[in-house]
Amino acid sequence: MILSERVRNSLVSSTVSIADKTQKLREHGETVFDFSAGRAFEPTPAYITNATIHAMQNGDTHQTMARGKTSYREAIAVKLARDNGIIANPETEIIATMGCKQGLMISLLATINPGDEVIVENPCFVSYKQIIQYLGGIPVEVTLSEENNFRWTKTQLEAAITRKTRAIIVCSPHNPTGTVHNSEDLQIIAEISTKYNLIVITDEVYERVVWGGNKHLNLASFPGMKERTITLMSFTKSFSMGGWRVGFIYSGAEIINQIEKLQQHLITSVNSFVQVGATIACGEPDAEVLNYWAEWEKKVEFVTSTINSLQGLSCRMPDAGFYAWTKINIPGIHSGEFSKMLLEKERVAVVDGTSFGDAGKYYFRFTCVKSWDELEEGLRRLRNFTKCLL
Ligand code: GLU
Repeated sequence: MILSERVRNSLVSSTVSIADKTQKLREHGETVFDFSAGRAFEPTPAYITNATIHAMQNGDTHQTMARGKTSYREAIAVKLARDNGIIANPETEIIATMGCKQGLMISLLATINPGDEVIVENPCFVSYKQIIQYLGGIPVEVTLSEENNFRWTKTQLEAAITRKTRAIIVCSPHNPTGTVHNSEDLQIIAEISTKYNLIVITDEVYERVVWGGNKHLNLASFPGMKERTITLMSFTKSFSMGGWRVGFIYSGAEIINQIEKLQQHLITSVNSFVQVGATIACGEPDAEVLNYWAEWEKKVEFVTSTINSLQGLSCRMPDAGFYAWTKINIPGIHSGEFSKMLLEKERVAVVDGTSFGDAGKYYFRFTCVKSWDELEEGLRRLRNFTKCLL
């Protein structure tokens, strides 16, 4: 059978494939502790689900406008003004997506040609480089080092630019390191992207789950940046809505117009009733959601402090997000074998740091937003396992 080079050269998604593997093991009756993909343990809050069921029962089961329902886009505009200080025109500057990944795909389809270079962070979310390559683009990595709190410098960023550079993908709050880019970081990106006429795609899926005194900032709200920034947001993480596959893009009208054509051909529209749930999620979060966020912060603190108490491992409390990005300080042991053996010996699944880029060779990613019981047992097993390696 002759298949495309695109698929033959493609790696699997390590986050999705390890989560699938653990699910399969469970279906075969095995006990597995899954801290791999960033999927919270809690269900979607009832006020969101109930409104969606009601919409389905009332016949809201047909395709919508390719841009998404007017009511959804209007709710997004209210959310952007309230949470992000962005004044968006819901008619021209917003389009509904099936989560950030699909948003990224259409953003790149709209902006890069084969042979164009796209700057990504190293480490970065596992699907960025792959999607760029599907489109014939070339990912160019800029390394984020722990010593620099997982930020890039202006010199590093500028050094990565060539005549072929077309776009930069920035993830803030960052997956997997948990860094929130401050205004100085974003100013650097604004300056460089303006100087070299680049598009910036910002993945802001963790914008609402920010810990301590940290504050999420939007590049699009920096002077002159709206027209060259494509902001990706979704409800997957903050509202435990991963299975809904829903989010949106905010950008200048010209980009949204072009993306709309892609959306018409590729998916027609985002599922109609799912947009009703997402519309509700754009409102002020209710007590249940606020309680989720408070619990998650406690869990992230618990996991990071427990890991730091283990000999041979260390991690920072992230500024935001679900993950303990954990450094393996055991001579001769790198992430690939560590993660593989941890699953084999202790039935604990984490994500091998290398899947986020070679800067992750001595790290693994542990998702903290699981049940307290799972966390306690999973960390006990992690302790056992690490002890044996020392
Ligand atoms: N984005 C999440 C993660 O980093 C979910 C998995 C995925 O969609 O790749 O784990």
